[in-house]
Amino acid sequence: MDQICIKRLEVFARHGVLPEENALGQKFLISAVMYCDTRKAGVSDSLSDSVNYAEVSELIKKSTEGHVFKLLERLAWHLAKKILLSYPQLDGVELEIEKPWAPILLPLEAVSVKITRKWNRAYLSIGSNMGDRRENLLHAVRLLDEDEETRVVRQSAFLETKPVGYTEQDDFLNGALELRTLRSPEGLLDLIGEIEQKLKRERVVHWGPRTIDLDIILYNDEVIQTERLTVPHVEMAGRMFVLAPLCEIAPYAVHPLNGKTVIEMKKELEMGH
Ligand code: ATP
Ligand code: CA
Ligand code: CA
Repeated sequence: MDQICIKRLEVFARHGVLPEENALGQKFLISAVMYCDTRKAGVSDSLSDSVNYAEVSELIKKSTEGHVFKLLERLAWHLAKKILLSYPQLDGVELEIEKPWAPILLPLEAVSVKITRKWNRAYLSIGSNMGDRRENLLHAVRLLDEDEETRVVRQSAFLETKPVGYTEQDDFLNGALELRTLRSPEGLLDLIGEIEQKLKRERVVHWGPRTIDLDIILYNDEVIQTERLTVPHVEMAGRMFVLAPLCEIAPYAVHPLNGKTVIEMKKELEMGH
């Protein structure tokens, strides 16, 4: 991936844990490596096809001066997010903040914090079998897209499916979404939970009727197993109502554990494997 770099931009600001730091201020040196594809600009020679580093430097300066944070970690994430949200053509950014005058009473050149943040690609399965099912799904899509750190970039058609598990309930309307998100997997799960709450999902019977169900099916090519989260979704390969809509928007997405594409898993399920 190509890189556009800003090296050690000097900004005077008041971040720090100590009150003196907040009162007196000090020098910060800020470096950014912006990951993007520069091939178009390489041909066109037009600034509008690239990222204007003068503009980004201004943004870094303003955002650094405009807040007082205790931690460099906080400032680094603040700046990384500002840059990624302002320049959607970037795939990611590495940000380093140095404090050459850090007041720790020992001789050192500088202390620094360096972070790398990038857009992640996640696939969700969405379903509803209560109320106005289509409106519920569309409402959930709107709420996902309204999240500052998340964009819905692709959406399948909605598909009518028979309930599985607990079958004494109405048919489901199911779909699949592709997201571009700055959220971590757990952060995305939190967002999904908030949206389910907002849409007043009722949790009466497991696998029972619900206004909305949002599941994380894939997150990049990551394998995650925590108390709250299993990714890829454990039932992914065995559920036609997940694979069919997903196949429409991401037939060649690969399951990181079994190495199969969505279209392969769908075919196998159709053949009753
Ligand atoms: P299923 O997961 O079999 O489709 P469900 O969607 O009906 O069942 P829920 O009641 O919606 O189950 O979720 C139960 C818990 O599953 C959630 O609280 C969440 O912490 C956990 N969970 C684990 N992995 C995932 C995932 N990949 N996506 C969403 N939730 C998950
Ligand atoms: Ca589910
Ligand atoms: Ca769920």
